[in-house]
Amino acid sequence: MGIAVGIDLGTTNSAVSVVRPTGKPEVLKNKEGDSITPSVVLFQSFGGPDEPLVGEQAKRQAAAFPDDIVQHVKRYMGDPSWRFDSSSGAQYSAEEVSAIILKRLKEDAEIALGEEVTDAVITVPAYFDDARRTATKQAGQIAALNVLRVLNEPTAAALSYGIDADANGTVLVYDLGGGTFDVTILKIAGTEFEVIATDGDRNLGGFDFDNALMSYLNEELKKQGAPDALEDVALMASLREKAEFAKKALSTVPKTNVQFSANDQHYRVPLTREEFNEVTQSLMVRTQELVADVLEASKLTWDDIDKVLLVGGSTRMPAVRELVEQMSGKSPELDVNPDEAVALGAAIQATLEGDIEVSTEQVGSKATVESFLGGPVHISDVTSQALGVILIEADGVTEFNQVMIERNTKVPAKTELKTKTAYDRQTAVHVKVTQGDERDPQNVTIVGEGQLEIPVYPKGSPLRVSYEYDVDQTVVVEVHDLTANKSLGTIKIERVANLGEGELGEMEQKIGGMQIN
Ligand code: AMP
Repeated sequence: MGIAVGIDLGTTNSAVSVVRPTGKPEVLKNKEGDSITPSVVLFQSFGGPDEPLVGEQAKRQAAAFPDDIVQHVKRYMGDPSWRFDSSSGAQYSAEEVSAIILKRLKEDAEIALGEEVTDAVITVPAYFDDARRTATKQAGQIAALNVLRVLNEPTAAALSYGIDADANGTVLVYDLGGGTFDVTILKIAGTEFEVIATDGDRNLGGFDFDNALMSYLNEELKKQGAPDALEDVALMASLREKAEFAKKALSTVPKTNVQFSANDQHYRVPLTREEFNEVTQSLMVRTQELVADVLEASKLTWDDIDKVLLVGGSTRMPAVRELVEQMSGKSPELDVNPDEAVALGAAIQATLEGDIEVSTEQVGSKATVESFLGGPVHISDVTSQALGVILIEADGVTEFNQVMIERNTKVPAKTELKTKTAYDRQTAVHVKVTQGDERDPQNVTIVGEGQLEIPVYPKGSPLRVSYEYDVDQTVVVEVHDLTANKSLGTIKIERVANLGEGELGEMEQKIGGMQIN
């Protein structure tokens, strides 16, 4: 095995980290010398196949080539209908675009380390569901990485926080990134990390703050006679750039001017932090509601929370700090780098999961990490989504969703359900795996289906169905024949939203052979 790295594959930015021989994790610089790489892909070709450009250079050209750029692809992970059509006529799934980013990260890490990178722990929002977790693992596979594990971002952040500070206590992680929001409560006791509850919104992040500001700026610009920028791809890309820039400026200064050009005309919109806070207020309120929900789910009050960690680039907005202080009556911890904490934690986990026995010149071994941290690390995480099975009511027709594993259950988790064969000479059990708490099948998502053959028994023969959530929060279903008292095996779940083995192999070849810059 080569080197195992930790990868924070973010909606807007990504970072790679390794544990050094001292046992301390460190973010690696990319080939441009930056510690973060924008998760942006520009599909360019020079008369031949696509030669995607990834990172800062791609981001800078977003406004100039709006049709050739892919940003925020993380939002589409696990969405089987999403495709990007490049100008050269090729089509890419979200997993492939993510794999292109991962491949660039892998190659840059190999340059920085001078050694081959083979394995990775990739982080995901705690609120990612089964389809999105599986899609992330598949993106790693397409990029020729052995994905040791997908790790929840807030858990990774807490892991890196736990190494530096006197972190013991109950910690709330407020993680507002580019595209997702997660809030997680965990207990840290030495090298034990126990997640108690998690909640979030995978469509709430800096991107939405940019969108809200863009709408406001567009209205102001129209009042000055500018064309509707939201109706024109190039103008919209330019306005997005200006909006994000202004948003970031307002994190440090109280007011700024937004300069905008269209049709050779120049416009200027003055903008204050108060105005920005006003147009984005509903988004802040949404995070506030989710924080309240997670506190309730954990059965804790603010008095029980010892520390608040802010993670994700969007927590640089002063409104976040104000909200957290106002809600909790506590000042957030300052010694967390919101851009790096997640990648650093992922590297710790990668080293613990990998099988590097001895430190090399570049990277540390599992033993060095443990001695640096002060002992073996134990992480216990919880499920972010309820998992269930579709059953049939006693009337023999009406379907309902039976929750098997509730939200915020510790993983790995296993539950069992006794059921019976539904009719005489039944030869197979068909299982529909659901995600969601509600009883009505209309209100839950079928994440996958699978079938297992059973011996021919009379109607009403007892079966036991067991669900197991592994540490990656992907589900394994097993059926027991209680007549013969033996396992009938595990069901291979065909995931509705994910790629099949054949497609994966083709994508590995397609992306593997690509020149990525
Ligand atoms: P992440 O995915 O954690 O890298 O977060 C990136 C998001 O943070 C993007 O939406 C950025 O616009 C946002 N961001 C980065 N720096 C700042 C800042 N100084 N003020 C406000 N938002 C920021």
